[in-house]
Amino acid sequence: MTLKFIDTRGLDSSRPTFSEVLLRGIADGGGLYLPENLPTFSMDQMDTLHSANYAQRGAFIYDAFGIDIKAADTLRMMQKAYGNQFDDHRIAPVVSLDEDTHMLELWHGPTSAFKDMALQCMPRFFSFSLKRGLANGSLSRDLLILVATSGDTGSAALAGFAHRSHTNLIVFYPDGGVSDVQRTQMTSSLGMNVGVYGVKGNFDDCQRAVKEAFFNEDLQKWLKDHTDLQLSSANSINWGRLMPQIIYYFSAIIDLRAAGKLADGQLLDIAVPTGNFGNIMAGWLAKQMGAPIGRLICASNENNVLADFINTGVYDIRGRDFYMTASPAMDILVSSNLERLLYFLAGPERTRKWMKQLREEGVFEVDAGTLSLIQQDFAADYVDNATSLSVIQDCWKRYHYLIEPHTAIALHAAEKHRGEGNTNKDKANPMMIVSTAHWAKFGPNVLRGLLGIPHDEELTTPYNEMTGFELLRAIRRLAPEAAHVPNRLSSLEGACERYQKVIPATEGCINSQIARWVEARTETH
Ligand SMILES: *Cc1c(COP(=O)(O)O)cnc(C)c1O
Repeated sequence: MTLKFIDTRGLDSSRPTFSEVLLRGIADGGGLYLPENLPTFSMDQMDTLHSANYAQRGAFIYDAFGIDIKAADTLRMMQKAYGNQFDDHRIAPVVSLDEDTHMLELWHGPTSAFKDMALQCMPRFFSFSLKRGLANGSLSRDLLILVATSGDTGSAALAGFAHRSHTNLIVFYPDGGVSDVQRTQMTSSLGMNVGVYGVKGNFDDCQRAVKEAFFNEDLQKWLKDHTDLQLSSANSINWGRLMPQIIYYFSAIIDLRAAGKLADGQLLDIAVPTGNFGNIMAGWLAKQMGAPIGRLICASNENNVLADFINTGVYDIRGRDFYMTASPAMDILVSSNLERLLYFLAGPERTRKWMKQLREEGVFEVDAGTLSLIQQDFAADYVDNATSLSVIQDCWKRYHYLIEPHTAIALHAAEKHRGEGNTNKDKANPMMIVSTAHWAKFGPNVLRGLLGIPHDEELTTPYNEMTGFELLRAIRRLAPEAAHVPNRLSSLEGACERYQKVIPATEGCINSQIARWVEARTETH
């Protein structure tokens, strides 16, 4: 049976298939797509997958959903998505810090952060679906994807979409708002189908201008009349971004069970550094699909709207300051994927009402029944900047394992909530921390952590004179046993930054830059 999709607000009756959902992104009426039903796996099935590699595990899970893509095509794309562009053949290895504390390392991909787990996979399925649609006449245009990024998403999207057929990608990042390593990752991108521009202003300015451009009718008309392109967004609310993230939760559990670290009848608690609620939502879906998961610990930084929501049932963004923290990928006020959880626990009518309240009043409160369901599966906490940096030092001293600020937040929340949701009174559930970035992507704050310098203070001499790449070498001298820098990051030093242009954060400037990029591309075709 081919899987059909529903939407979280119950307003889209079109029941699209997987490949249709990939290309559409958001549902009519503004809801998010979800599969009509979830497959479930028995413990035996999971254990059997131990002899399968990561790509095979992924293909097995995708096939079980009943997607409208043939098993052989799915397997081929999974093998490409999770192949030797990862620097560990296990793709998402689990590393044990001690008997009951495990790290799920999601940063072995081409840009050294967890966005690769979805963005190495999704663009292949996206491009495949597009090609099929063009061939059978249901689609007539190539797509132009616009992305505004605070750092990690841009580089991972470039790595995922570069050279993919029928898709084009333009990335806008806040000039001065991303690290040297992140900027160089983006500006040195190759691929005729991509473009990268700095925007004057912070991430919010950048995102707003790109969003306005996306909905600008003149730009859409110009593209329609003068090009073969149509705008598209492949952002993190796309189901195609969420689904690959289910794979690594199963994969980790398969590995932990095979290693004797998760016994029959035991549940695994998992702490996730959370921003848009995508990663942790995939963990919750894995639990619904039979994975032996106990509690999911939602770890936030000082932008703690989500942690407050899980603890009180009130989601309130009124009068909230937006903090720039040491964990910028989690600096977010509206966590879009939460809507998917609300749908599962409360149904489409209530979800629709709450989302309307959030949009119009900046606040909603769930009923007591829904809150209690949420709290059965989730715990939540937030960690301030100072603590997140001190955890980097503690973890280094205790385990000789180097982490970056996002992962540090999850580790701290994990220690605080360990044992709370125990199934077995005498022994705490084993804990897995989801590690979302390699430490070298956040060098300056890792160094602050190791040296005990506060987040908002300048680095001291000689560090304040160093480039981002020199800082990585300094960290390696401080922590020589652990601080390996992946070659794909160190080799960016001195790379040709092909994209140098910085434009003002206005809709008009973004529009005209898009038009110029499209014209230049057409000329070289
Ligand atoms: C994107 C990101 C997160 C947040 O993940 P969500 O799925 O948005 O909750 C956490 N850590 C890092 C390093 C990220 O890039």
